[in-house]
Amino acid sequence: MSNRRTFAIISHPDAGKTTLTEKLLLQGGAIHLAGEVKARGQARRARSDWMKIEQQRGISVTSSVMTFERDGVTFNLLDTPGHEDFSEDTYRTLTAVDSAVMVIDAAKGIEPQTRKLFEVCRLRSVPIITFVNKVDREGRPVFELLDEIADMLALDVSPQAYPVGMGGEFEGVLDFATGCVARPEGPSKEFLGTRDCDPSIPDRFAEEIELAQIGYPEFDLDAYRNGDLTPVYFGSALKNFGVTELIEALAKHAPPPRPQPAGDDKVDPEQDEVTGFIFKVQANMDPNHRDRIAFMRMASGTFKRGMKLTPSGLGKPIAVHSPIMFFAQDREIADTAEAGDIIGIPNHGTLRVGDTLSEKDKVRFTGLPNFAPEILRRVQLKDPTKTKQLRKALDDLSEEGVIQVFYPELGAQHIVGVVGQLQLDVLVSRLAAEYKVDAGLEAAPFDTARWIKGPQAEIETFEGFNRANLARDRDGDLVFMAKSAWDVNYQQEKHPELTFSATKER
Ligand code: GDP
Repeated sequence: MSNRRTFAIISHPDAGKTTLTEKLLLQGGAIHLAGEVKARGQARRARSDWMKIEQQRGISVTSSVMTFERDGVTFNLLDTPGHEDFSEDTYRTLTAVDSAVMVIDAAKGIEPQTRKLFEVCRLRSVPIITFVNKVDREGRPVFELLDEIADMLALDVSPQAYPVGMGGEFEGVLDFATGCVARPEGPSKEFLGTRDCDPSIPDRFAEEIELAQIGYPEFDLDAYRNGDLTPVYFGSALKNFGVTELIEALAKHAPPPRPQPAGDDKVDPEQDEVTGFIFKVQANMDPNHRDRIAFMRMASGTFKRGMKLTPSGLGKPIAVHSPIMFFAQDREIADTAEAGDIIGIPNHGTLRVGDTLSEKDKVRFTGLPNFAPEILRRVQLKDPTKTKQLRKALDDLSEEGVIQVFYPELGAQHIVGVVGQLQLDVLVSRLAAEYKVDAGLEAAPFDTARWIKGPQAEIETFEGFNRANLARDRDGDLVFMAKSAWDVNYQQEKHPELTFSATKER
């Protein structure tokens, strides 16, 4: 049985993802990160400077892979960029994990970005462990939070811990499994390791706690692994409460590498043949080299350096001589990697998002969709003699996954779609720097896009009435450009035989 746990953290900005990540890395065996955490302010500044440079050079922003170990379990934590750098990569990263930790701010509950990311997890039934963070501060009532998770996400919730008071009344976190309370200590009120296993709980909390234990479903491993139930932990990333319990829950319950869908088949992680798929391509990571790094999630087999793998679509094998493993900030040369691990493969544009790599070139992984963009813009070409270059650039950048491009059925202006604002800046600067195309972006009269499928006759009828709102994507597939979500619902009701899909499989 594999000892890998490949997961991501999903959350809304400010819920505490960065703080929790640092604590997880510290508690795991990522020892050389400790220095970095101490120099945290500095590291953060360095990181944002790096982002600025990335932006000026017109390259996309890093989403890294962090590996740490604890008690014989290897954790691969895939970062889902979540702030101004929110992009389709954020979504795609979730196709490469076996489970996720959902971090919620106890004072805020489910926020919009948490919800969006959750929906992407649900597409693939990714199991979720919930961590309600910041219980050292005043938060919303626990039952309200639990019910909100259950109602908004249509999930069963199973509390595994309980905060004994919050804010000024905070007395620690009770772990249901052991019955011990992790107590705050010292002037900083942190968790320094003191667990009280014969706690006297004040009456006003005791009743609530009993209700929480009997009023919600018990933890059920199958329901969790099917994505139907989420165990809920409470803690404080900042003050170190609940972090150990979270790692232990990941080690104990989170699934090891899951079989990966490949059409009607599934590829078993235990099979000998090395297979994997590309979930992200990063251009020009090292400004001195014009190469790209393709991030491959290993689906099966044991990869060894120098191995020959055939990318789907290319037909001929490539030798992977210098794969990169991302151990926090440092790049390390990987010698071997197994199912669940991520390796970076340098290349000159041969590898694309969604590609399968394999030894025998027989499988094709599926379930790596494009996601409907949430921001749409018209591209305004400043020099009309550059039409051809623009088209080439947009096609290239859409294959790389930086943007999506739509060619309207009426009118000549191209429309680009992205999930996060930063991608638009990246687009404009890369157009100028790499393709010598001076272009601007202007508002498009659309809010979102949906891929249309259905019986041919129905599609034709629909086309007849809606030509001004139709476009073709890079592959020539038909897309409905909608003015609003309401517009999508309206058309869906009017045309029940058609599907308006927010995702598309390549
Ligand atoms: P991210 O945007 O989700 O990565 O959130 P950060 O980890 O950067 O945290 C956002 C803010 O919340 C920072 O000021 C943190 O210090 C603070 N924070 C994070 N976790 C906790 C917590 O458990 N308790 C309290 N009181 N503050 C926290």
